[in-house]
Amino acid sequence: MDIPFIDLKTQYKRLQAEIRSHIDKVFEHGQFIMGPEVFELERRLAEFAGVKRAVTCSSGTDALLMTLMAQNVGRGDAVFTSPFTFFATAEVISLLGATPVFVDIDSRTFNISPIELEKKIDLVKKDNNLKPACVIPVDLFGLPADYDNINSVAKDNGLFVLEDAAQSFGAEYKGRKTGSLGDAAALSFFPAKPLGCYGDGGAVLTDDGDLAGELESIRVHGQSGGKYSNRRIGLNARLDTIQAAALLPKLEIFPDELIERRRVADSYSNGLEGYVETPLVPDQYQSAWAQYSIMSDSRNQIRAALKAGGVPTAVYYPAPLHLQQAFSGLGHKKGDFPISESIAGKIFSLPMSPYLTGDQQDKIIHIIKRSVE
Ligand SMILES: *Cc1c(COP(=O)(O)O)cnc(C)c1O
Repeated sequence: MDIPFIDLKTQYKRLQAEIRSHIDKVFEHGQFIMGPEVFELERRLAEFAGVKRAVTCSSGTDALLMTLMAQNVGRGDAVFTSPFTFFATAEVISLLGATPVFVDIDSRTFNISPIELEKKIDLVKKDNNLKPACVIPVDLFGLPADYDNINSVAKDNGLFVLEDAAQSFGAEYKGRKTGSLGDAAALSFFPAKPLGCYGDGGAVLTDDGDLAGELESIRVHGQSGGKYSNRRIGLNARLDTIQAAALLPKLEIFPDELIERRRVADSYSNGLEGYVETPLVPDQYQSAWAQYSIMSDSRNQIRAALKAGGVPTAVYYPAPLHLQQAFSGLGHKKGDFPISESIAGKIFSLPMSPYLTGDQQDKIIHIIKRSVE
């Protein structure tokens, strides 16, 4: 039998009774929009990450968008981010009329380089066309970016730090949880993320009560208290109560699943060391292991051998964002971000889930070793 790339079925079997009884309660009380489960989830998420407030919303993309809206990011603003990320990270910047300014990544962590960030901010300042407003570090594959250095560069330059924690909820950086590492953080509950629901969902985490209040307004059409009084332009971006109900029991077992994800990652690394480039987790970092991604110049050969053995793989991401047609208006060309481009050419991800068995992993490791020997 084929090994699933992401195993949601085994988790469902484990939690079936709890998930069903939580969702049944929603059918009974009938508050499908902003029901009590939404607020309970927000309390639990904030508590988990060690922040004051969580504001749930309809997706990780909307979590990013709403936070930039609350910061009044728009035309003339430069928002710095990684070109090696999912499209949504930069899409929301352009959607608001602001300009994504890409910054190349660190070759070992795949996350935005604080040194390159500082250089890029200086260039934008010298150019005098755009106002540096915000930086969106991405915690790629579940590994936190280098927040001490990013926050210090951001502080020196008056930038708001929006952590894209869509892949990293549950990870840690120097004893602190992701979601608490910048001024605000965007989470995604897309089903394949480490903490996923059964549809789209997301949240913003922050210690800033005023920001949380603004986000609560934005997610309901910019409402100000009364139903038919609107203080600003907003969105319809609420999390469904049914999704919150499904997330509550999943959050209960999430710490246990994170331990299992680490077990899976460690045994991949032990088995594959010396055959491919295995992922680095720097000292005092913990990854949430959204993906286990390796690099090899023999990528096509290894992927073909795995596919023939019933093992799916995926490439995150085959092209950095500066080379996407949608961003061609920014005027970038091949060679502008050499580290991102080089990594895009040799990276790929293996099946990852807390429920991957030792036997399944042995099989995967065996196929990879044999195909590069
Ligand atoms: C998944 C993801 C998003 C978007 O989340 P959605 O819930 O799918 O909208 C944003 N950024 C990164 C890095 C992601 O992986």
